[in-house]
Amino acid sequence: MTTASKPRGVKAGKAKYGMGLFATKAFKADSEVGEITGERFHDPDYSSEYCIDLGDDMALEPGIPFRYLNHCCEPNCKLFVVFDEDSAPIEDRRVVVEALVDIRKGAELTIDYEWPADSAIPCGCGAIKCRGWIVAPNERHLVQQKTR
Ligand SMILES: [Zn+2]
Repeated sequence: MTTASKPRGVKAGKAKYGMGLFATKAFKADSEVGEITGERFHDPDYSSEYCIDLGDDMALEPGIPFRYLNHCCEPNCKLFVVFDEDSAPIEDRRVVVEALVDIRKGAELTIDYEWPADSAIPCGCGAIKCRGWIVAPNERHLVQQKTR
C-alpha cells in the first residue's frame, strides 16, 4: 500500500482565476518543488482538463493541491516525468515539479500547459510574453488560423 506524502512547501489558495498553488517557502532554481500524486488511468481515450500524459496510454489525474497548478506563458515551474526506461513499469512513472527560476515564498507556482492547438483556450496569465492562448509555442500559429 502506498501512502502519498503530504507535499511540503506548497499550498492551494485563491488565485486570479479560481484556485492556484502557492509556495509557502522559497525554492531555488532547478530544485524539486514536489511530486504530483493522484489517480492513474491506463486508457488512451482518457482526458481531462488537468490530466498529465505519462506516455504509453497512461495518464495521471493530479490530486490536491497540485491540480491547482495554473498555466502561465512565462512559468516558474516545469513538470518532469521521471522513470527508469530499462526496468521501471509505467505504473512507477513519477511526475515531479521543478523550479525553473528562484521562487520567493508566497509566489504563485505556474507551469506552461503547452496544449495542442485544437484544445487551446484564450490565456489571461498577464505575462509580458503571453501568447494570448493556452497553447504549445510551436502550435501557436495554428490557433491564429482557427480564429480567422
Ligand atoms: Zn499567457
